[in-house]
Amino acid sequence: MTITSINPATNQTIETFTPLTKDETLDRVGQADKAYRTWRTTDFNERKQAILTFANQLRERQDEFAHLITVEMGKRISESHYEVEFCAEIAEFYANGAERFLADQPMTAVDANAYLHYEPLGVLMGVMPWNFPFYQVTRFAVPNIMAGNAVMVKHASNVPQCAEAIADLFEQSGIPTGVYTNLFIPSEFVEAIVSDSRVQGVSLTGSEKAGAAVAALAGKNLKRSVLELGGNDPFIVLEDAEIDKTVQAAVKGRMVNAGQSCVAAKRFIVVEAVADEFLEQFKEAMASMKMGDPLDEETTLAPLSTEAAAVHLHEQVQSSIDAGATVLLGGDRPDRDGAFFNPTILTGVTPDMPTYDQELFGPVATVYVVKDEEAAIELANDSSYGLGGSVYTTDVERGRRVAERVETGMVFLNQPTNSQAELPFGGIKNSGYGRELSHLGILEFVNKKLIHLG
Ligand code: NAP
Repeated sequence: MTITSINPATNQTIETFTPLTKDETLDRVGQADKAYRTWRTTDFNERKQAILTFANQLRERQDEFAHLITVEMGKRISESHYEVEFCAEIAEFYANGAERFLADQPMTAVDANAYLHYEPLGVLMGVMPWNFPFYQVTRFAVPNIMAGNAVMVKHASNVPQCAEAIADLFEQSGIPTGVYTNLFIPSEFVEAIVSDSRVQGVSLTGSEKAGAAVAALAGKNLKRSVLELGGNDPFIVLEDAEIDKTVQAAVKGRMVNAGQSCVAAKRFIVVEAVADEFLEQFKEAMASMKMGDPLDEETTLAPLSTEAAAVHLHEQVQSSIDAGATVLLGGDRPDRDGAFFNPTILTGVTPDMPTYDQELFGPVATVYVVKDEEAAIELANDSSYGLGGSVYTTDVERGRRVAERVETGMVFLNQPTNSQAELPFGGIKNSGYGRELSHLGILEFVNKKLIHLG
């Protein structure tokens, strides 16, 4: 088995990598455990200097890293630039905030002699996806390194160049060998790592299927876990929404990363009073997307990450069409090389169709027309997922009421779900558990130790 980097815009192979053997992998665990024992004794300032160097390097070498992301997983170049900049912001947020987030917490309200003292746990395993290849790794690795843990990362097998570049960058920033480890391994090796007594926890960002497999391993081995999984986010349009702005948000929310985002808006739930107006404008805006080379700044619709992803999306869409869904736009692949998919709008998707409760990871929107606000909330909550969501209304109080009734981990008013270093990110139901980013993200893998002074 080799790990292969393929440009999805051309389907040409760029580079191949040789994976580690099982023995080599377990040697790396030993190296990480040894490195952790020293790293945990460093002070916040030492960790901060290394992570700030990491942030500065990301900015200085933004062009190089953005290009790498785009040629390896197909994202539009401007989105790749934004991703690298966002990683620098996350790194600064934790470099500057970790000491405050992990300061001792007196429990004087209940007991004057008690306080919480935060300590690192040890070596952590991260299993990461390809869709934001720098961002997903940064949001897992940086807070945990700042907390004094050591992290090992098995990145998605289609982004090995990004995986290697991130590992090199940590090393060049002064993070000691073993505190950050890139593992070129097949997913079957994750079991040996999670069950190793030197590993204290695992964080997976990816599909529901991979999440369930890793959560089972964590449960069997009594390891702490965080799961950031898929989503089928509702985008609720009420009759008092400003339709022009709502349509702009709909296109942005659905087409981010060519539709391959866990928090992309996926189910557009529109009350009937404004449905015709919304659909007409939405169709026009989606149809005007310019498909092309993701390195070209003029392109607005990039390819999917791999040929297999485009084939899978086509099968999902076709199964809905076969079951009676209506194609308002697209529905198929263009006649050109690369992992492209036409911008697509489906209506008339019903609960008996397989795609009703599946995540469509690409430029495909399903639009549902409902009678009123109550029906919109009911449909929004009729999902096994619970990651993000958004509500469009000019009445903020009404928006708040609706947002509080949507069963997800995050809801945004009049803007698509997005992530910011300072705000918690995560879901409920089959979208996983635990939170990343914000002060909550650094508290997932620390010992919240109670010390009682007698
Ligand atoms: P994926 O197939 O689940 O892969 C994610 C990672 O898990 C990859 O490194 C993969 O390795 C590994 N993996 C797969 N099966 C595994 C198993 N049985 N045991 C251990 N590791 C395993 O997901 P993807 O297609 O890369 O990413 C898309 C999914 O991620 C979507 O569902 C998306 O919504 C979700 N996602 C969620 C968030 C969030 O924050 N909630 C963010 C981004 C993406 P290989 O590549 O070697 O198979």
